[in-house]
Amino acid sequence: MNRIKLIKDDITRLDVDAIVNAANRSLLGGGGVDGAIHRAAGPELLAHCRTLGGCEAGEAVITPGFRLPARYVIHTVGPVYGSMPAAEAERLLANAYRNSLELAAGHQLKVIAFPNISTGVYGFPKEKAAEIVISTVREFLAGSELPEEVIFVCFDDENFRIYERMLGVN
Ligand code: ADP
Repeated sequence: MNRIKLIKDDITRLDVDAIVNAANRSLLGGGGVDGAIHRAAGPELLAHCRTLGGCEAGEAVITPGFRLPARYVIHTVGPVYGSMPAAEAERLLANAYRNSLELAAGHQLKVIAFPNISTGVYGFPKEKAAEIVISTVREFLAGSELPEEVIFVCFDDENFRIYERMLGVN
């Protein structure tokens, strides 16, 4: 069974167990997908995040989804590309996905949806990011029954085309 799916959509619309947020270290909201998630979840999400004390790059924390269709939001912080050696950025990007999956499995979640972390404002090259992400997720799923399904949610055409090619869809 193929446990990896690819869609082009707005992640805030998905009715899944958890959507992942490409947050920043403050966890207090920002632009891009982070802003969209906070707007859709409502002010309760920001109030909850204020109590968490931030999150380091590569780490992840879980909150309720509040007004979102998704039950939970897993907030992870990707690396800012160019602010550190490339190898370190690659390691942190893999950690961000792995730690999010770990949290999902720990909460018995079956379906989790990821945006293309770090490939927006944080500037991670999209092709390289997709390579790292797909191999990290495949490796995790090979060793864990949960989550049952991982959905890659691409918002921009370029990421969608890259994932389509790399996942061998079509
Ligand atoms: P980062 O700071 O981690 O780079 P961004 O939010 O700037 O985060 O971009 C990460 C990715 O999220 C980009 O590929 C962007 O196209 C995508 N994105 C932006 N809004 C949404 C949304 N509503 N749903 C899904 N993906 C989104």
